[in-house]
Order: sequence, then C-alpha cells, then structure tokens
Amino acid sequence: MAVKSGYFRSRLHVDLSTGRAESIPLADEFLERYIGGRGFGAKIVWDALVAHGFSIDPLGPENTLAIAGGPLTGMYLPSSGKCSFVTISPATGVYGDSSMGGSFGIELRQAGVDVLDITGKAPVMSFLFIDDGKAAIVPFPELAGKTCLEAEGLVKERLGTHEVHVASIGVGGERLVRFACVNGDWSRNAGRTGVGAVMGSKNLKAIAVRGSRDLPCHDFTGLMQEAEKAYSYMADHKFFKMWQREGLMNVMAYANSMGILPTHNFSDGTFPHIDRINGETMLGGYKIGDSACFACSMTCGNICLVKQGKYVGTVTEGPEYESCAMLGSNVGVDDFAAVLRANQLCDELGIDTISTGSLIGAVIEGYEKGILSLQDLDGEPITWGDQDAIIGLIHKIAHREGIGNTLADGSRRVVERWPEMAKVVLAVKGLEQSAYDSRAGVSMALAYATSDIGAHHTRAWTIAKEVELGKDWSDEERVDLVIYHQTLRPLFDMLGVCRLPWIELGLNEEHYARFYSAVTGRETSLEDLLRLSRDVYTLTRLINARLGMSRKDDTMPYKVFNNPIRSGPTAGKVIDRQQFERLLDLYYRKRGWDANGIPPAGAEAAFGAT
Ligand code: SF4
Repeated sequence: MAVKSGYFRSRLHVDLSTGRAESIPLADEFLERYIGGRGFGAKIVWDALVAHGFSIDPLGPENTLAIAGGPLTGMYLPSSGKCSFVTISPATGVYGDSSMGGSFGIELRQAGVDVLDITGKAPVMSFLFIDDGKAAIVPFPELAGKTCLEAEGLVKERLGTHEVHVASIGVGGERLVRFACVNGDWSRNAGRTGVGAVMGSKNLKAIAVRGSRDLPCHDFTGLMQEAEKAYSYMADHKFFKMWQREGLMNVMAYANSMGILPTHNFSDGTFPHIDRINGETMLGGYKIGDSACFACSMTCGNICLVKQGKYVGTVTEGPEYESCAMLGSNVGVDDFAAVLRANQLCDELGIDTISTGSLIGAVIEGYEKGILSLQDLDGEPITWGDQDAIIGLIHKIAHREGIGNTLADGSRRVVERWPEMAKVVLAVKGLEQSAYDSRAGVSMALAYATSDIGAHHTRAWTIAKEVELGKDWSDEERVDLVIYHQTLRPLFDMLGVCRLPWIELGLNEEHYARFYSAVTGRETSLEDLLRLSRDVYTLTRLINARLGMSRKDDTMPYKVFNNPIRSGPTAGKVIDRQQFERLLDLYYRKRGWDANGIPPAGAEAAFGAT
C-alpha cells in the first residue's frame, strides 16, 4: 500500500560552492523504503558515493551532509523531536550519523523539507537560512571563533527574530576537530562521528530554520488516541518519576553497581567517589530545572547551576550519563562542579564529550605508564582528577594547540604518532568507545565491534541485559540480541523519535508501527518496518565495505582483550579473543555476510549501485 500522507515529498539540496538550491520531489518508493531520518540520509550518502566512484574526502566539499527528521517528528507523540545528521564521518572515514533532539528537526519539517542535503563549501564563513522551504546562504564572517550559543544568538539577531531554530557549530567544528558536534536549541547535540567538522569544512557555521506549515497526517484523531495510550503507559511506569527527576544521571549509580562504569580510562569498573558525581549529588546541590525535547514527558534534560566555588556561575543542560562518566570517573574527577564545567566547555566549543573524555583518559594513562613524555604534553603534566589540566586539554583540543592538535584528529592519529598508545586508547573504527565497559559482557563487545559508526552504545545496548540477567548466555542468544538491537534501533532514527521510552520504560515496539500507519495512511506491521530498518543497516554496511572496511575493522581495542577490569563486581573480566572471533563468525553467518564480513554480491544492486 502506498504512502498517503506524512511527508511534503520534498528534498532540498543546497550546494554551498555554487550557491544553488534546488527542491527535488521525493518518489513514493524512496519514502516507503527509507522512511525518514537515518534512512533518507544513508540512501543520499550512498548515491553520492556512487556518483563519486566511492571516493569522498569527509572534509572535502564533495561530502554530503544530510539532515532529516522522520514522519513521526513533531507529531505530538512521546519523544518525537529527533532528527538525524548523516554523512561520511571525519572520525572514521566511513558512514557516520548522529541524532539530535530539541525542536530543530520539527521546524525543518514545518518548513516543508523532508530532507536537507548540503554539499560544497561557502567562500567565507556563512550560515544557511531555510525559510519555509526557500534557502539563502548568508555570508557572516563575524561568526568565526564564536561558541555554539553565541553563534545561535548572532544568527537570530541578524535575522531579526527569535522565531527560528538554529543548529550551530563551535570552534571545534571550525578547526575540523574530527569529533566536533552540532549543537541545537542551546544544548541538544548531534554529538558523534564528527558531523560538526563536516559543517566546519563547508564554512557553514549554522543552519537557521523557520517553518509555518502544518505537518501532514493521514489520521490525526486515530494518532492522538494511540499517543494517549502510550503517554498513559509511560506515566504509570514505576521508573517514570525517577526519569523526570534524574534523567540519564540515574545510570551513574547503576553502572557503578554493575561494575561497568568507565573509571580511570576503563581500568576499573567502579569509582570510589561515585557519591560525589551521581544523580543524588546533582539533585542535592546543582539541579535548577528540567528540559525536554519536543513532546517528551520524560524530561530527561537536567539544567544545572554551580552556585559556589571555583566554577561558580557555570550553567549547563546536563550532564547526562555519558558526559558525566567520561568527563568524571573516566578521568578521575570526583567534583561534580568540575564535571559540569567540562561539560559546558565541550558544549560551547562544540566537541563530543565521549570522545573528549576518552582521549583525555588515554593521555593520563599514557603519561602514567611512560608512553607519553612531559614534552609530549607540552611540558604540562596531568594526572587523574587534575581538573585544571583536564579543562586545559579540552581548550587545546578545540583550538588544536600543542598536543591538542594530535588529539583533535582522534584515536587513529594518536596511535599513528605514538604506536604504544594502542595499549590504552579505546576506539573502534576510529570512534572512541561509549561509557559502558564491554569486558563485563561479551555481547557488548560484539555490538561495539560490528557497529557501522564505531564504538557507540546507541547502535546496540546489550550490556544491561547480559550483566543484569546474569544467566549463562549461549553464543546464539548473544548474537541474536545484538542483531535485534541493530535492526530495531535504526527504526527510531528513521521515524524521527527518541529510543528512550522503549529502552528505559519498555514502551512496546508495536506502538511505533501504529503511529507510522496513522501518520502515513500506509497500514504497516512492525515486521514490515523492521525489514526496512534491517535493509538500512545493510546499506550502511555496504557503504563501509566499499570504503575498505571488513572483518579486520570489526574488532575491539587492545585493552579489552588484554587487561582485565581491576576493581568492582566485574573485577578480573576480560574478553576472550577466541570466543569473540567465534561470535563474530556466527554474527556474519546470521547476517548472510561472508567470513570477511562482506554482504553477498548483488546486495548493492538493490540500492541502485552501478
Ligand atoms: S527522553 Fe530525553 S533525549 Fe529522549 S526525547 Fe525525551 S528529553 Fe529528549
């Protein structure tokens, strides 16, 4: 059955080099097959690769940055404020994406744009203004050097209105830090894979959007009935109030108790001073308000203020778990005010908190072990919990000063310059690992290793299940769990919603099929949608295969195979390489890929390769 509604059927292509903008109608087949968000972006990136003979410099003008919400974005459904930024990643050199909450994606849809894709490079620092579907490239060199928030303010001032939503980059994006992020609505971030560096490479400091259209919906009354059921279910959940109170900060105590909290560069699984940087600490002295993405009753954003001491006046939305763990326990910081300052700084400068905390942790351990010399550190020693040195390194990374210039190019460059650092760096495919220690559960190692964008937890977060249930998992169960997550999770990004109601409150997946059917008028089962999202995962695998990735890249860093966790309930755990390789073999077999991890000949033809 064909899609009847839910889209404007419009792709807006902007070439910053020529200054041309073109509205391209989207065919039914494209809408039905790729759904939206990550799906639209993956197909557009694939087509660009085909057109360029599978050779694209992530920081070259030929790279495409596609931005799209999905058919559920902005539809007054639980957590329906997401959009995806999709590109060839400067961090990994292969497929990359990152999703952003807030309201930017909704405004883009209200401007009548189902997907915006940007190529080329503006001659000078500029911003792009999309006003109800019309694009204007506005040269604005004065934006150079501004923080994300300053840039947002200046763009609004220049346009003479606050009735726009802005996504902007900081100094990190301008300086092409390979893990620079895009910031929207003050502190919602498309944080991973360096999408901010792609904007920086295009001299694109910001994108402002204004839209006035009603979002198309086939059966709005039916949709609202379904929405009410979902909201009621969530409100009645035993963890709902805790989520509103603490958001993802509740995971600090949980991860610590499970022995999976990154501590001292993933050397320990628990942090001795967890009580100083957990959710209770935040509630006790720092939290001053809630914030949420569009239509989200979970309100997981914590607005925090430092009221006294060295960092007095620091105000930020966050940290959430990943930022607090990576800028706290992972670098040995036990002062919540310092974590807030580091988080705020990363947001202002526009660099990813996970990659930043990971690289700083590796530097501290590398120096402790004598791999890095004092000279390598520009004569400035660093140790666990050294707040000044850590904050100094954040500045240096964003501005590419001293050792920061190497760190700004990510883990790969670090290992190229200091090969022994391979023993302490934690990254997969060049993307620094998220804040869950996979040695506690081998399914998580498989999830990180086989992830299309590198070691990021949102592709498949299996560790809680494996560690919590504590049962004796078979190889088959582990592999099935990873593949199920990798199949379902793209769907949230394709539909344009947040995954957290499903993962944290157990909102049944079937809701999303009903939402989709009501919005588009296309009766579709969850199985149908999962088939489509599985196809998108295959597509991103094909992109990576064409760019040279294979089994050799589906692996984990040295530390995971060689250094057992030192402390906590998971002490002594390490990944057995033979078991890992066995799981990988099984994973490939179940995927239908060959022993080298390559999809079968002919798979490309389904996506229009020549
Ligand atoms: S749960 Fe948090 S991240 Fe997800 S939509 Fe709600 S506020 Fe945004």
